[in-house]
Amino acid sequence: MSKQPPKASKLLNDCFLHDKERLPHHEALEILKERLVGITSKETVNIGEAQDKILAEDIRATRNIPSTDNSAVDGYAYRASDFDDAGGFFLIAARIAAGDINPSPLPQWSAVRIFTGAVMPEGADTIAMQEDCETHAQEGTDFVVIPQGLKPGANRRRMGEDLMQGDLIAKVGEQVTPQLIAAIASTGQSKVEVYSPLRIAILSSGNELKEPGQTAQAGQVFDSNRYLLQSLLKMLPVEITDLGIQPDNYDVIETKLAEAAKTNDIVISSGGASLGEEDHIIAALEKLGTRHLWQLAVKPGRPMSFGQIGDTLFFGLPGNPVACFVCFLLYVRPSLLRLAGADWHEPKRFKVPALFDFNNKKPDRREFWRGIYAPTDGAFGLEKFARDGSGLITGLREADGLIEIPEAVTNVSKGDLLDFIPWSEFGI
Ligand code: AMP
Ligand code: MG
Repeated sequence: MSKQPPKASKLLNDCFLHDKERLPHHEALEILKERLVGITSKETVNIGEAQDKILAEDIRATRNIPSTDNSAVDGYAYRASDFDDAGGFFLIAARIAAGDINPSPLPQWSAVRIFTGAVMPEGADTIAMQEDCETHAQEGTDFVVIPQGLKPGANRRRMGEDLMQGDLIAKVGEQVTPQLIAAIASTGQSKVEVYSPLRIAILSSGNELKEPGQTAQAGQVFDSNRYLLQSLLKMLPVEITDLGIQPDNYDVIETKLAEAAKTNDIVISSGGASLGEEDHIIAALEKLGTRHLWQLAVKPGRPMSFGQIGDTLFFGLPGNPVACFVCFLLYVRPSLLRLAGADWHEPKRFKVPALFDFNNKKPDRREFWRGIYAPTDGAFGLEKFARDGSGLITGLREADGLIEIPEAVTNVSKGDLLDFIPWSEFGI
């Protein structure tokens, strides 16, 4: 008997069939979007542990927030309609601090000393800030002089102005953000139902790869993709199993993939993803399971593959770090979110003018360029990261996001409006 807990409930009958040698970007996305479904069960977690998880319940406000009218400042609360009669000179009838409950109603021609967050007494509607007021003591009684010109209702927070009881705050399928955690906490709810994490195994493949911290000979390469992928995955509701660096050896790759598929919902590899003599990922995938997508009409990322081994999904990312990064963001991330119970999220594109010219892009593929969002003449424009190589991690750091160039576009001229996807659209 395996000591592993059972894998998340199951996938997906196949039906990923298509007839393209190289699949266009939008068709690849369409297939993933149509076919992938949530595969995990539900669990209840404390709101402090809910960050990045996917909601499995709708969240509604359980009370009005704020629950009463209250003061937005430290000052003096009064009835605006008393102002003319009293000429701005009010008796201080009481003192109300944050946390004091059920204050007495405000007597006429009086004010109360009040502090930020304190409940407004019945009858008061306006608050003057303490720094604008003068106080006087006369025969043992305290008075306040309130300045002219405050609008009725000034500095008052209204009951329910943030949320009314029953308002929908978030829906099943949303990913939990810090702001959402604050909103859930503000309703008094301490636990939330979320989908349980996906179990994901990652591996790097390549004889040239060395672990950072080891020594590397000339020609050897430190494995950056696994660290890149781990960091990207940590922002998603997943549990990661690190399968390390694996050699360009068919038998080893087949054994590793077969083992990983037994106990994981998803396996992700980088490198060895083409059909070269030293690339074994595709062959192992086809031996062990089914390949649904392989080769995209996209740059970078042509050799990106997708398939399944039993009911474990497999993503084979290209080894070049830029291609690995871009393919993860464009294809793997939305797929994982969907599998984890989220809605399919298409990143927003922003139209930004080009600050550069580019000629002779190939017409048969979509390209994603590293874009730098640069200020220019009081507006913003897009520079293209100058060097092209898909191994250049520097470009990923300098860029602010991806410029998407559709298949049909072959030339870009300064001033053309381009589709720009900032990194923030990918949660980074
Ligand atoms: P491959 O996809 O195996 O043909 O690799 C393409 C390029 O990416 C080669 O230059 C590899 O050395 C490089 N590469 C592959 N895997 C990694 C990795 N994990 N980290 C950094 N570079 C890699
Ligand atoms: Mg390789």
